[in-house]
Amino acid sequence: MQVLKFGGSSVANATNISRVLDIVGKAARRDRVVLVSSAISGCTDALLELARTGRGSTERALLIESLRTRHYDIVRRLFTGAERDALESRLAALFARLYELPEDEMVTYGELFSTTILAAKLTQEGLRTKWLDSRILVIKDNRTLTYNNISTAVALEPEVEVFVAPGFIASEYDGKPTTLGRGGSDYSAAIYAAALKADRLEIWTDVPGIMTANPKDVPSARTVSRMPYRAALDMATHGAKVLYAPTVAPAMESGIAIHILNTFEPDNAGTTVCEMPESPVVEWMGVASTDDTLHGESLLCLVGSGPVNGEASCNRVEDCLRKSGIKTLAISSDGTNIHISVRLAVVKEALRAIHREFFESVPLSKLDLYIAGCGAVGNALVELVGDSAQRIARRTGKTLNIAGFSHSRDFVSLVRKTAPRGSVFVDVTDSETIYREYEDLLREGINIVSSNRRALAVPFVEFAAMHAAAHENGCFLRYETTVGSALPILESIAAGANSSDELLSMEAVVSCTLNEILTSYDYSPASFAQIVRKAQQEGLTEPDPRIDLSGREALRKLLILAREAGVPLEEEEVEITPVVGPEFFGIPLEEFYARLEAAEPVFKAREAEADAKGCHQRFVASLEKDSSRPHGYKATIGLRLVDENHPAYRLTGTENAIIIRSAYHPYPLLIQGAGEGAKLAAASVLNDILR
Ligand code: ASP
Ligand code: MG
Repeated sequence: MQVLKFGGSSVANATNISRVLDIVGKAARRDRVVLVSSAISGCTDALLELARTGRGSTERALLIESLRTRHYDIVRRLFTGAERDALESRLAALFARLYELPEDEMVTYGELFSTTILAAKLTQEGLRTKWLDSRILVIKDNRTLTYNNISTAVALEPEVEVFVAPGFIASEYDGKPTTLGRGGSDYSAAIYAAALKADRLEIWTDVPGIMTANPKDVPSARTVSRMPYRAALDMATHGAKVLYAPTVAPAMESGIAIHILNTFEPDNAGTTVCEMPESPVVEWMGVASTDDTLHGESLLCLVGSGPVNGEASCNRVEDCLRKSGIKTLAISSDGTNIHISVRLAVVKEALRAIHREFFESVPLSKLDLYIAGCGAVGNALVELVGDSAQRIARRTGKTLNIAGFSHSRDFVSLVRKTAPRGSVFVDVTDSETIYREYEDLLREGINIVSSNRRALAVPFVEFAAMHAAAHENGCFLRYETTVGSALPILESIAAGANSSDELLSMEAVVSCTLNEILTSYDYSPASFAQIVRKAQQEGLTEPDPRIDLSGREALRKLLILAREAGVPLEEEEVEITPVVGPEFFGIPLEEFYARLEAAEPVFKAREAEADAKGCHQRFVASLEKDSSRPHGYKATIGLRLVDENHPAYRLTGTENAIIIRSAYHPYPLLIQGAGEGAKLAAASVLNDILR
């Protein structure tokens, strides 16, 4: 047995009724049907109004007349000849009774009109049809009796293919006609289904199932394909009009799934309300609302599929409302749903904001990441992606997927051969040769994010070729982390260059190691050699600290900085004055330290000179406009004395700073902050990936 219920708009006119007949006809070919119908749309409201008119008044006569006309119009379109006459006289008798009826029974007639027409039409179509009187069968608040009545009535008619029963109406135990409450036809259908242990219960309405919100309030609402009984009940109880809340209980108790379908789109699968295994991940089902006009508030309910983290969810709701400028008057979680109250005037905005946050921010794109290099930054990145994937998805619409993570040399060629276009290759190695693969990766449509400055500080032709490959293949090549770690330095320089702001000079204090050594030397009584040795022991320097003292790292950074500003600087064009002279290089490390110790008076003297002038020593890489030079800029790296008016004067240990002067800006742009730390670098790499 199948129970099919149709709502008021499904039977509103002859055209719609034809759709209903099609649906019922098809169903009847599968199995026997109980068709439960509402009154035609607007009829119940009209009958309630009728009950308020005076007996014998013209108003009452007019109302009855207009209702009769609407029904007769339907009859005239669906029937002809003797069948039409017969049906009209049966309806006429019903309408005649309306004049005499006790006012409180008037409302029960709408379903009598509609089902009388439906039953007649099905009979005419050749189906063995039987009209059931729900007023006799459905006894309000007496389930046992009701179920018995219904099953007996049906058992007595084994030949019948389609039973037609009015929804909504029932009787009290004493036989007085009554109703099951507004929207009660859904409930009638569930009662019939439960009484008959139906295999199928379908509620046909004018929307495609239970939606994530009322589409009238939230145009982007979508159908929820499966919903547990409890969630459907909560949606209905808290304002979703698509289903009358009492409907759920009889269906749930009998284990009958409720299929909610759209008469006007019969192939849409709609919503199936059924028993669902509790999933460990909560799915949000929808958001409904009821208005409390008395207090000028609206109560919203965000319904979950199962137990939720109430506090976190409340915060998320409040947050998204705040961003839309909506004040939350009250908010709480019942463990499964979130209840929110807002001012009545902003209910639509609130529904939309919550809907956007919980139902629309589904990730739009998936980014596959291939991470080369398992050092501190690589590991920090993997951890960071793992911890913040959900938040990132919500904020940016991107889901990050770590598709590969390796330090193997062959990894990059594997990525080139197997990674899908649009993936991101992340180079957090310090390989000097990996850059040779960049161009090929880009030509395969694979983006690159690199923190490896050795890969960028290559001869300009090769640097330019990588960029060209990126452009030509619609990919990005980003490396913000190569200079000043997470500080937004390259981004700022590029912005200036893009907007034709002419660079006058830049001074970069971007060597954490040298900065740390120089500031420590300034404050501590230890010798320069001791300070360098300590820095080496702490892992602050390269294994051979002379690489830092030589200015080699600073050189790489300056090349990258200059090129970002559009200056095709080459290594040989940079004047480097290392912290220590050539006699310190090319000798064993211990000998180096001995010489350094011996040269302490020189360092002392330098420091004393700086102190006397009220200056600090800083290791600065700079680029200055100079028309006598190859690209119009002079590039230098070396120790510099900076006085207290200089932004680098107050820099401490591992801080970095860059000071940019340009034509458009009357004052220099100063970017300063932490320049070291694996987590920081990982965050910056992540930003490059997401940008
Ligand atoms: N006709 C009734 C009403 O309008 C019952 C129903 O449509 O479900 O409330
Ligand atoms: Mg309804």
